[in-house]
Amino acid sequence: MKGRLFVISGPSGCGKSTISSMLLKKAQHLKLSVSATTRKPRENEIEGEHYYFLTKDNFEKLISQNAFYEYAKVFENYYGTPVEPVKMMLEQGYDVLLEIDVQGALQIKNIDESAVLIFIMPPSLDVLKQRLISRNSESDEQLSIRLNEAATEIDKAVYYDFIVINDKLEECFDKVYEIYTRQSCS
Ligand code: 5GP
Repeated sequence: MKGRLFVISGPSGCGKSTISSMLLKKAQHLKLSVSATTRKPRENEIEGEHYYFLTKDNFEKLISQNAFYEYAKVFENYYGTPVEPVKMMLEQGYDVLLEIDVQGALQIKNIDESAVLIFIMPPSLDVLKQRLISRNSESDEQLSIRLNEAATEIDKAVYYDFIVINDKLEECFDKVYEIYTRQSCS
């Protein structure tokens, strides 16, 4: 039996990585798609675990070989979902989780209507700003780019199948897990 694609998006700092990790720990038949990116690795990021870190040339070569399900430019860098590993996991009957931006999510929905799109919404832009500041991984300039981008992403949430507000992490996770169990084919 084939698995199903689940997409989690939301603005930077909305908590989607935490929710995704919790989901992957709890859901036995769900595997993560590791994206490729041209962004430089952050401290503690591991090649092949968090991302495949590629040069712009290599990324563009893979685009020309149709090696991505979807790809997008986010904050001046390329990000993309490699086709082969995802295909293999789906064929093995696993559901696959894509933690990608709204541009990528909408491309996925176009290719595969059965994909389940979940948007993690911050309670407010102020809360999001505080979370990004406390994460301390961005320069002031990057912070302001990410906040501007957040507003644009939130506008696109209407295209998602589910919108879940991340006010309290545990409550948000419970809702996402319930969506997953109801929509999973396994
Ligand atoms: P970050 O640089 O913070 O790791 O990610 C920046 C943004 O790129 C996030 O919104 C993240 O979800 C998105 N992203 C990560 N991987 C992919 C991907 O494969 N495709 C697309 N379209 N976006 C991605």
